[in-house]
Amino acid sequence: MTAQTHPVDHELIQAAAHVARTRCRGDNHTMAAAARAQDGRIVTAVNAYHFTGGPCAELVLIGTAAAQGAYELNTIVAVGDRDRGVVPPCGRCRQVLLDYFPALKVIVGEGDRVRTVLITDLLPESYVWADHQLDAG
Ligand SMILES: [Zn+2]
Repeated sequence: MTAQTHPVDHELIQAAAHVARTRCRGDNHTMAAAARAQDGRIVTAVNAYHFTGGPCAELVLIGTAAAQGAYELNTIVAVGDRDRGVVPPCGRCRQVLLDYFPALKVIVGEGDRVRTVLITDLLPESYVWADHQLDAG
């Protein structure tokens, strides 16, 4: 099975890269994320590392977006500090992103091989949070 591809939102990658370059400091903030909200605006965030399980940039971004009234996200990308480029979401984030935004698109890949995939393609045979998805059925 071949995953369907979508256009790459390069402005979004640049927004995340800018935050990674200018806002990530030391060990506490090493990743930046940017998401395109339903209304077209871009929301950005950085991770808050802590050994007790501090959230990834993608998870901080969900809260940041909600705080700005952006409850629906179309596309998300994460970029690492120190010029690491696009970094795919970890397993925990894939599950959270899927549960929050089942139709979300995620930018993955390196360099000129970046591509846009559906969150469902990144988490096949996924666990379904039944209480959350009863309405979606
Ligand atoms: Zn994560």
